[in-house]
Amino acid sequence: GWVVVNGDFVPASEACISPFDRGFLFADAIYEVTTVVSSTLIDFDPHLARLRRSARAIGLALPWEDHDLQTLHKDLVSRNQLDEGYVYLQVSRGAGLRDFAIDEHMTPTLFMFSQARSVMQTSDAQNGIKVITVPETRWAHRDIKTAALLPASLAKQKAKQAGAQDAWFVEDGRITEGSSNNAFIVTKQREILTRDLGQHVLPGITRAAIIRLAEEQGYQVIERGFTVIEAESATEAFFTSATAFAIPVVEINGHQLSSGKPGPVFQAIRAAYLDHVRSQIP
Ligand code: PMP
Repeated sequence: GWVVVNGDFVPASEACISPFDRGFLFADAIYEVTTVVSSTLIDFDPHLARLRRSARAIGLALPWEDHDLQTLHKDLVSRNQLDEGYVYLQVSRGAGLRDFAIDEHMTPTLFMFSQARSVMQTSDAQNGIKVITVPETRWAHRDIKTAALLPASLAKQKAKQAGAQDAWFVEDGRITEGSSNNAFIVTKQREILTRDLGQHVLPGITRAAIIRLAEEQGYQVIERGFTVIEAESATEAFFTSATAFAIPVVEINGHQLSSGKPGPVFQAIRAAYLDHVRSQIP
């Protein structure tokens, strides 16, 4: 398929980025992943707004207008004839001599690719997944969407080795978020809990949409940290991300939640989110 390198469309096999790129040497890069359904970008505007926020947070000036970035996304989707999947965009500081101090005149590197993938109907959404909890080992600014994903990747690997599909990070006894998603639990009183925003979690675009949709459905959503014990004894649990939407969690640290099947609150919320996605397709 086609990829974008610095604004140019090139075949994936011919894409080149310098090994002196600070994205490679320092993980000095930010990224976004926007879901595509029926060749339509879902919630593109908030993804773009978060990209600009991440760029500001690391002092990176983005030399592209919103319109240019949107056109690149749309053109990549149509060139690759992508029906369902996602577009990945990464901006790194650029290439230069290796120096911890940042040269403010570097030209940022832009790299984009698309990936076909089922998102509307998946077996994880149908059956639910198992998670384990692991100590929070990432840096203190999880609210910035940087490409420094090694701790998240190692946590996911640990989950896999333990026979689970994801890991939820724990800091000071409370869950922050999943390795690549925001974590939610449902209490016996049918309240929905998810971590409040701040430096400790990524402000998920899907998290924001799900909170709004859940409240519209009459659920009480409380944004606060919850403990591992609260999670293990929850009635239901689920996580959210742009490419996974909402996925039910049926087991945490070996503790089965209720019936071990996706629960009614999750089902209602996933259905509302699918409507939210469909409403954006022309
Ligand atoms: N937290 C982390 C650490 C993530 O990597 C992601 C996925 N990018 C999310 C949360 C979910 O964010 P979004 O809903 O915007 O995909």
